[in-house]
Amino acid sequence: MATAASPSERLSSYNPATHEVIGSVPIHGPAEVDAIVARAKVAAERWAQLSLAARREELTAFRKALAAHADELADLLHRENGKPEIEALTEVMMALGHVQHAGACAEAALAPRRVSAGLLANFRATISYHPVGVVGVIGPWNYPLFTPMGSIAYALAAGNAVVWKPSELTPLIAVKVAEIAAQSLAQPDLLQVVTGAGPTGAALARSAVDKIAFTGSAATGRRVMTAAAERLTPVLLELGGKDPMIVAEDADLGKAAEACVYGALTNAGQACISVERVYVADAVHDRFVDEVVKQVRNLKVGGDDGHLGAITSDAQIAIIKDHLEDAVAKGAKVLTGGPAAISGSYVQPTVLTDVDHRMKVMTEETFGPVIPIKRVGSVDEAVQLANESKYGLGSSVFAGKAARAIADRLRAGMTSVNSVMAFAGIPSLPFGGIGDSGFGRIHGDEGIREFTRIKSTAEQTMALPLNLMSFRLPKEMPARLRQMIRQLYGDGVVAKAGDWLRKLRS
Ligand code: NAD
Repeated sequence: MATAASPSERLSSYNPATHEVIGSVPIHGPAEVDAIVARAKVAAERWAQLSLAARREELTAFRKALAAHADELADLLHRENGKPEIEALTEVMMALGHVQHAGACAEAALAPRRVSAGLLANFRATISYHPVGVVGVIGPWNYPLFTPMGSIAYALAAGNAVVWKPSELTPLIAVKVAEIAAQSLAQPDLLQVVTGAGPTGAALARSAVDKIAFTGSAATGRRVMTAAAERLTPVLLELGGKDPMIVAEDADLGKAAEACVYGALTNAGQACISVERVYVADAVHDRFVDEVVKQVRNLKVGGDDGHLGAITSDAQIAIIKDHLEDAVAKGAKVLTGGPAAISGSYVQPTVLTDVDHRMKVMTEETFGPVIPIKRVGSVDEAVQLANESKYGLGSSVFAGKAARAIADRLRAGMTSVNSVMAFAGIPSLPFGGIGDSGFGRIHGDEGIREFTRIKSTAEQTMALPLNLMSFRLPKEMPARLRQMIRQLYGDGVVAKAGDWLRKLRS
């Protein structure tokens, strides 16, 4: 149960590599969250009244200010989350890509659309998109800038104000971004941050926000949706994944192995779209495994020049260890790393073979530097196993000519063909999942419209001699309606809506 915070209550942020405290933030209780949301409502009203061009200009200023602080942001990501410098800089760059894209594309994505008026051909029918008001963004710790920015940038571009609750493991990066927003956006309170752990997130979910964009685990997603139900606040859920990779017999094995190693191990495997399980055709299984193992053995863990950084939390290390021990106990073969190689905040990249779907490492989200590889007898078997999951976020296929056809059979929100994770780097592609991976979309035009309410307008452009929306109808009307039903929808389809209109006017 959330409690009102006293000003003395603070939350510390730790460097996962050294366990040093690197800063602290207030713990916001429900009363403070409500007050911040109330300020955001005022900001949202002003922001929504600006033209799209004026909003674009402000978002450009925000983007430039973020870019000017890129080193500082990357340093904070490195220290607070544990990821190596290169991955921190990549995250800053990808986040900026979305701020740029959302600002540039909002005008086109939100342009009112004229649609067919069907039978009511004397009407002009349009769909228009309007800001929802205040969007509450609740974020995770694994990509503490890129992931929430996928909601924040699109929500702002669509004309909303944002209140952001970052993960309790990575609050400093959010506080810094809000500071930059306050300095660079002319509109005050457009992007505010509330800090704290679960209870602060719960307070935001119960507050008067007009939409919640949640990114995190499926378990918390369910709690957020339950809390939001009290006010019928709409929710967007970006949850976990168990992304499969399929390697067919005719795949380019060198490329597939390199992509697999990167896709499974970047950010030490702590990505919602990590490659979490690999299905490889029998004929190429052994060669693929050899190549993966060779590449993994060249990776360095920890240190300033390490390829893999520290695991962000002790709780995550416990999950990874549990999955590895479960796999080993059920017969998996450890080719590199393994449960015994976990030391402090570091997990050595682990390649497993002889795995199957009885093991957690093949069915639950491991969220660590683990590559479980399963031999399959056919593409059909690979597709069936890939789809045998409660999750459905990303996926990847390495194959020859049939690659696209295989991709189309995967039950997932996103698929990369002869590549991994590429869909996340293309800002115009909507991002999101199905099943326990959530619903709704960020990124792309769909990601902008996600933060709008859709309005339908029907404008009468001319009156008809016969007004069907009136009680003053001629006596023969039932007969005419019967005829109309037959002609328009029955066997004797003769008339289009326009023809019918002409008939009525004649
Ligand atoms: P989490 O569910 O533990 O926490 C996410 C956020 O929810 C945090 O800010 C947390 O403080 C807050 N929270 C906790 N309890 C809450 C409550 N009752 N009400 C409201 N908010 C509450 O997730 P995490 O461990 O921070 O992140 C890892 C998970 O996020 C993984 O499952 C990962 O796959 C997923 N993820 C998904 C995507 C995506 O786009 N689909 C992206 C990144 C991460």
